[in-house]
Amino acid sequence: MTPRLFDLSGKVAVVTGGNGGIGLGMARGFAACGATVVIVGRNADKSAAAVKTIESDGGNAVAFEADVTDTAAVAALAKRIQSECGGADILVNNAGINIRKPPDVISLDEWKQVIDTNLTSAFVCSQAFHPAMKDKGGGKIINIGSMLSIFGTSFAPAYAASKGGIVQFTRSCAVAWAPDNIQVNAILPGWIDTELTQRARIDVAGLHDRVLARTPAARWGVPDDFAGIAAFLGSSASDFVTGTAIPVDGGYSIAG
Ligand code: NDP
Repeated sequence: MTPRLFDLSGKVAVVTGGNGGIGLGMARGFAACGATVVIVGRNADKSAAAVKTIESDGGNAVAFEADVTDTAAVAALAKRIQSECGGADILVNNAGINIRKPPDVISLDEWKQVIDTNLTSAFVCSQAFHPAMKDKGGGKIINIGSMLSIFGTSFAPAYAASKGGIVQFTRSCAVAWAPDNIQVNAILPGWIDTELTQRARIDVAGLHDRVLARTPAARWGVPDDFAGIAAFLGSSASDFVTGTAIPVDGGYSIAG
């Protein structure tokens, strides 16, 4: 094994929702390995701050605004990345939301909002970026699942459905695009301290302590925990790894 195995110099890594939380943790991992990172989000101020963070680490990043539920905006984004950055080598479908309501209460509109943001966007983005990756001779797509790709819960039926779907979508693309030398994998984060879960800890009584008690690593994860898996799944180190769903969870999913 050589250090160059994880070298991403000259590569372009696109991270949806890369302006905070897990997305920014992964973006920093790509940048540390030499990639130019394209941060995609809706909140321009947050994205500008994320670019600054990566630049102050000594990395390269740009921010492009797009709502991943807007198909036309995603098509325009792929075109812009092609013309301004030479196309994506790595795509991370990370943008996500949750609406915490039980299945007898969540409305159809809320259901659609979660599915569109977490699952349909991964399909739309992957389809938009696939032709350019194929033309480049290969690439990496990384989809972000969840512990709710594996488990059910009373308070997040749409979220769990979207994250279960991410795993099967990942496997399907991995099979379809293996001949194009595109590896497609999913990451299943455990409980990570981000804006998303800061809200959950207010909404779900006892959640903070339950997570601590069940996680063998005895802590919540942090965005920096995703830099290493980003380097692995984004680089040639993972060229024979495809269709997997890798937990990054401090052991949460294997605890009895
Ligand atoms: P954050 O809320 O910190 O980040 C979510 C990101 O998604 C934001 O950067 C946001 O950007 C972006 N986003 C949301 N909707 C859209 C949209 N329509 N278009 C473009 N960008 C959008 O959450 P996390 O970092 O925690 O979550 C990242 C991913 O990890 C999600 O898919 C989440 O489901 C998953 N995950 C998180 C876990 C955790 O414990 N934190 C556990 C398991 C999975 P902007 O504000 O600019 O819209």
